[in-house]
Amino acid sequence: MSSKTYSKRSPGCYKTRMISRLASCSCGKLTVRCQGEPVRVSMCHCLACQQRTGSVFGAQARWPKAQVTIAGAATEWTRTGDEGGTLTHRFCPTCGATVYYTCDDFPDVIAVPVGAFADPTFPAPSFSVYEARKHSWVSVPAAAEHMD
Ligand SMILES: [Zn+2]
Ligand SMILES: [Zn+2]
Repeated sequence: MSSKTYSKRSPGCYKTRMISRLASCSCGKLTVRCQGEPVRVSMCHCLACQQRTGSVFGAQARWPKAQVTIAGAATEWTRTGDEGGTLTHRFCPTCGATVYYTCDDFPDVIAVPVGAFADPTFPAPSFSVYEARKHSWVSVPAAAEHMD
């Protein structure tokens, strides 16, 4: 087969229909099923993400809402971001783990903390934001785009 016969469709399109991942809280009562590859994976070093996660940075992946299926009860907590947008975090009322959140500036996008997938093979972040607040010992993937 010559290369001229290859489909122009990118491998990403094929994966979009094939891959399905499940994010879960610690106790398993709140889950989010995500179809296809995330549209964006980022890490955020801001102090709000540090406090929310209890870790020293947040890592999150985003999908179009239409590719996400949520199951289980969630409690909401809303905060106003630095640029005025409203972020609403949803967490399990039993174990307290945040399993997804939304931003009112992007209502058709669902963000899921990468740790909720409990999958060390999850794609690395492409964006590293709020590096002004980064702990000095945290290293960022070499290919990531850096933002203060
Ligand atoms: Zn739970
Ligand atoms: Zn943040």
